[in-house]
Amino acid sequence: MKSLLKLTIFFVFLIQIITAQPIIKQKDYPIKPIPFTEVSINDAFWSIRTETNRKVTIPFAFKKCEETGRINNFLKAAGKMEGKFEGIRYNDSDVFKIIEGASYSLRLHPDPKLEKYLDDLIAIIAAAQEDDGYLYTARTIDPENPAPGAGETRWSKLRGSHELYNVGHMYEAAVAHYLATGKRTFLDVAIKNADLLVKTFGPDKKHDMPGHQETEIGLVKLYQVTGNDKYLKLARFFLNERGKAHDGEFYPESSRFALYNRTKHIQDHKPVLEQEEAVGHAVRAAYMYAGMADVAALTGNVNYVSAINRIWENVVSKKLYLTGGIGSRHDGEAFGDNYELPNLTAYNETCAAIGNVMWNHRLFLLFGETKYLDVLERVLYNGLISGVSLSGDLFFYPNPLESDGEFKFNQGALTRKPWFDCACCPGNLARFLPSIPGYIYANKSNTLYINLFVSSYAKIKMANNTVTIKQESNYPWEGDINITVNPERSEKFAIYVRIPGWAQNQPVPSNLYRYIKKSEEKVSLKVNGDSVKLNMDKGFARILRKWKKGDMIELDLPMPIRRVLCNEKVEENRGKVALERGPIVYCAEEVDNGKNVRKLVIPDNVVLRSEYQKDLVGGVVIIHGIFPGLNLSKEGKSEAKNKKKFVAIPYYAWGYRGEGKMAVWLAHIKH
Ligand SMILES: [Zn+2]
Repeated sequence: MKSLLKLTIFFVFLIQIITAQPIIKQKDYPIKPIPFTEVSINDAFWSIRTETNRKVTIPFAFKKCEETGRINNFLKAAGKMEGKFEGIRYNDSDVFKIIEGASYSLRLHPDPKLEKYLDDLIAIIAAAQEDDGYLYTARTIDPENPAPGAGETRWSKLRGSHELYNVGHMYEAAVAHYLATGKRTFLDVAIKNADLLVKTFGPDKKHDMPGHQETEIGLVKLYQVTGNDKYLKLARFFLNERGKAHDGEFYPESSRFALYNRTKHIQDHKPVLEQEEAVGHAVRAAYMYAGMADVAALTGNVNYVSAINRIWENVVSKKLYLTGGIGSRHDGEAFGDNYELPNLTAYNETCAAIGNVMWNHRLFLLFGETKYLDVLERVLYNGLISGVSLSGDLFFYPNPLESDGEFKFNQGALTRKPWFDCACCPGNLARFLPSIPGYIYANKSNTLYINLFVSSYAKIKMANNTVTIKQESNYPWEGDINITVNPERSEKFAIYVRIPGWAQNQPVPSNLYRYIKKSEEKVSLKVNGDSVKLNMDKGFARILRKWKKGDMIELDLPMPIRRVLCNEKVEENRGKVALERGPIVYCAEEVDNGKNVRKLVIPDNVVLRSEYQKDLVGGVVIIHGIFPGLNLSKEGKSEAKNKKKFVAIPYYAWGYRGEGKMAVWLAHIKH
């Protein structure tokens, strides 16, 4: 046995010498998502939201960009309008994000008016670009007097200027526009700009990095669409620049930019490959982790893989809210310490939720495990979609888990607002929502993955076959899902159906949260009416068979009401319980439960029931029960005289019925 082991080690060593490469040698993600253009959704939950995004949010956000001078800034930089730069130095990025969203939307719904609007806008942006490719209206409009925070000269204050952050969003938007329309107009602007960065930054050129990550993701997309690896190399260079001291950029402590002195704030405290804990500004961090996953997948460098896995473990076991939110502190929009998860002051920026989805999706594509999708789904149905109203024109920037009806957490408001001075979140939602169908399916050679449960129709190209999938369900309210499989020709291949952690008594892939009681209700899986054993592989039920036209998979995920407890190390949640059903996290609002809602006590033995209410926030399942009105006071828990009705609604649906108190975590009494 020992000699066999030695022999194996020798051969592995030999292979490494011969190839001079790490053992993992993959030049792309091993698993490919089925692009949103190949998936049409027709469910009751997401379809209405993506339609509202197309019809309301995108035009609304462009209008806001016009009203707030964001588009005028490009006209001024182009010399087509007089005047000073208006707004904040990173406002260009909002326009880019909305163009990205509009391009995705165009790809699915041709709209000549919108296409013309984009053509005109892109012409203005192109005119605002300087001759050598530089594009940053905060400086170009008046280079002698750049906007506050922009730095005196180009790239002199990269920690705070966002001039590289802005163009990262431009690259993403330009690639989206090119793929949607086939027009190179915006792509050429992006390439000209990226070539300037390649000329400026690099191992034997200027050593520095974007203070706000995003450039890396954008550069990777440019690489993917052009095939030119200089963009991928620059993305890797920027990542590797972190943790090295860059001179000459310190702000006086009295300055509003002083937070950029904190190296942890911008994940510059250590080289990325040595980072173990998620720290600093959460959106920066999530974009950086997504960029690291890209570089890991596209270069095959195993060191990035271990670094992102370590950080992911830290987030999921110590820094993740039940709603999937990340970044608990208002101060610096940052991650807190381990187990620092306050509810009332939880920050949980909507952009950080989007970044968390992007990061976890990439990790799934890299490793093929459902644990990443469990986190992704938790974010999607809770702390992300809470960020936009059903009407599509009101937004949360932070997404706290509690409100006392007094702390105006949402940039001065107690509920959703139409816009913000720093308007990163609305634009981010506008670009994220149309991409949702792209998260449902994936494949790898002859394996087809079903990751999310959304009624949809998809056309999936396999190694030697094309398979159409029709998925039907009333998810997230009901857990019975029918999937019809139609391969072009009968063939043996594997379909991997995700069995969510919550359906297997594990709310998150860590010990941060757990259910009070194990559910005995079992997941059932049938093919053509016959039960099949759950043959589990990395969290998926693997069904390997010769598939033929019309084969039907029936998955039943029981959705009992679950009571969740938090790890005792989270001080805030000790003695408290939260409610879940399926993928949905619940909260109790003042409008249903009275002004003492935050002091409610739920006995563990009281029966709770679920009920569909079609008129509440587009139709939701509520949880209700009747039990003695227990109150929480300084002296302890006391029983009130009369029985009261208790109502909990999905967390994402709070704040629709006026301003008021709300809580996800409520006290409970053990029985
Ligand atoms: Zn934001």
